[in-house]
Amino acid sequence: MLGPMSVAALVLAAGRGERFGAAVPKAFVPLAGRPLVLHALAALAAVPEIARVQPVVAAAELARFEALRPAWGALPKLAPAVAGGAERQDSVRAGLAALPPGIEWVAVHDAARALVRPQDVSRVVAAAREGGAALLAVPVTDTVKRVRGDVVVETPPREECWAAQTPQVFRIDLLREALEKAAAEGFVGTDDAQLVERLGVAVRVVRGDPSNFKLTHAEDLLRAERVLAARGGAAP
Ligand code: C5P
Repeated sequence: MLGPMSVAALVLAAGRGERFGAAVPKAFVPLAGRPLVLHALAALAAVPEIARVQPVVAAAELARFEALRPAWGALPKLAPAVAGGAERQDSVRAGLAALPPGIEWVAVHDAARALVRPQDVSRVVAAAREGGAALLAVPVTDTVKRVRGDVVVETPPREECWAAQTPQVFRIDLLREALEKAAAEGFVGTDDAQLVERLGVAVRVVRGDPSNFKLTHAEDLLRAERVLAARGGAAP
C-alpha cells in the first residue's frame, strides 16, 4: 500500500556502462548467475520502508528487461521499467514521472551498486526523514586532490572527505525542486544530493559499507563475487 510514509526507489540502469567493456549492456552482465540489475532491485524490494521499486533502463533495453522479468519470480513491488535519458538527471526525471501519486519519499540508487544491504537502506531512509535529505557515504582512505590539468589546486582535509554512495533519499518535492533549479541553470551533477545541496538544504551523511561500491570496470565483478561468497551466497 502506498501511503504518505512510503518510499519509492528509483534504480538507475540507463547509463552507457562503457567503462565495463562487456558484450552485453552492463545491467544484464551476469553476477552470481543473475543479471547485475536484479541484485539492486531485489535488495531494495527487501527493504520494509520501500513500497515500490522503479527501474529506469535505456530505451533500447526496455524489451530485453521486460522479457527477463518472468524468470525473476514474484517481485510484487517491482514496477514496469521506464526509459532513461542522456544524463543521469534525465533518467531521474523519467523515474519520478512514472511514480504513482501519494509518494512522499524517493530513494535514488545506482543499479551498478549491486551489493547494497537492505539494513543500510533503512538507515539512510530514517536519516532523510529527519531533515529531508540523506545519503550513504564512506570516509575516503586516500588523500583527495582537486586537480586542474595536471596541477593540484587544493587538498581538502582528508577527515572531511567522504565518497558518496547511493541510495540518496529525499522528500520528493525537494528532489523535484532541485531538478528544476538545475535544469533552469544548466547545471549537471554527478549525484543527486548535489542538486539538493544547491537548494541550501542540509543533506545528512550516513556511514555506509564499502561493499556498496559501484561496479564500474569488468574486474569489479570478481570483487562482487567475493563479497557475495563472504555473505554466504546471499544473492537475491
Ligand atoms: O555514470 P555513472 O557511473 O555515474 O552512473 C551511475 C548510475 O546511473 C549507473 O547505474 C547508470 O546506469 C545510471 N545512469 C542512468 N542514466 C544516465 C547515466 C547514468 O541511469 N543517463
